[in-house]
Amino acid sequence: MNRVLITGITGFAGSHLADYVLAEHPGVEVWGTCRWRSRRENVLHLETKIRLLDCDLADPTAVKRALEISRPEAIFHLAAQSFVPTSWTAPAETFHVNVIAQIHLFEAIRALGLDPVVQIACSSEEYGLVLPGETPITEANPLRPLSPYAVSKVAQDFLGYQYFKSYGLRAVRTRGFNHEGPRRGEVFVMSNFARQIAAIEAGFQEPVIRVGNLDSVRDFTDVRDMVRAYWLAAVRGEPGEVYNIASGRGITIRSMLDQLVAMSRTPLRVETDPARLRPSDVEVLLGDASKFRAATGWAPAIELERTMADTIEYWRSHFAARRVLAGV
Ligand code: NDP
Repeated sequence: MNRVLITGITGFAGSHLADYVLAEHPGVEVWGTCRWRSRRENVLHLETKIRLLDCDLADPTAVKRALEISRPEAIFHLAAQSFVPTSWTAPAETFHVNVIAQIHLFEAIRALGLDPVVQIACSSEEYGLVLPGETPITEANPLRPLSPYAVSKVAQDFLGYQYFKSYGLRAVRTRGFNHEGPRRGEVFVMSNFARQIAAIEAGFQEPVIRVGNLDSVRDFTDVRDMVRAYWLAAVRGEPGEVYNIASGRGITIRSMLDQLVAMSRTPLRVETDPARLRPSDVEVLLGDASKFRAATGWAPAIELERTMADTIEYWRSHFAARRVLAGV
């Protein structure tokens, strides 16, 4: 592959994917889409190494133009409204960005006669309600989505399947389980707890961590392992197929919180915040990635402890910079 396009390159996973491609596959041209108002801080260090295209994926003209200019051999389609709680308050916007935008992407590929591999960042949230005896979850598990976000991801997933069957579009669908690490948005659970700890240490927050439901079980993979998996999905995955990408280790949010709190440099207490509880939450998401491992040889390499430590460090740097700005 000589030219790749990453939609959502300014986001959490997109920026790590760009880091990975540039470091591990030198010579590959990396293009990425962003919006004029996108925060660029995740890719500032890559400014001279990547090519950014101004493209709101909700606009079919912009999407076609971005593909016309970049003519990628692989597309990593990561752009999305990616936050489950926002999908409750903005379900139509979530569908527009996640589903309709993907149709724009697919139709532009067809109209321009391109033939890229398209990796679609689908989600473990698609499994939703998981019954006892159904874990670890394989790709054959029923999809019982429990949020507008999850339904939008099911639609992205099935559109990939349908365009492969109908038009031979080389879509490889990945159902990523939770991934975490530095640069993760502050609204996501591990990053949020790590940020609160760093804020408390730096004197920006009283010594109380506010939390939502701590009983859910999640399967965490480091983002750097996840983006390596995305690359392998595009290179070695079978077009038309769907793959779980997961560590296969489930831990409760409570246990993750305990480990993060143990890394805190100052004492603090934990309080439940009713505003952080969702209308319906997925209780257990524990993935079986054996199909993907067999197809690509992928295995996660980074321990959860390092992911958590690196995430806290990321937020410590953030608050250190804020202290400098505030002159304290
Ligand atoms: P982020 O929210 O960090 O990044 C989303 C990116 O999409 C941002 O760059 C954002 O740009 C861009 N974007 C949003 N709307 C548009 C639009 N209309 N046009 C163009 N770009 C847009 O998400 P992640 O990096 O965490 O997730 C990447 C993908 O992986 C998503 O599809 C997500 O659903 C999926 N996923 C993530 C999981 C996780 O645990 N992280 C788990 C499973 C799947 P802007 O800055 O302009 O808003």
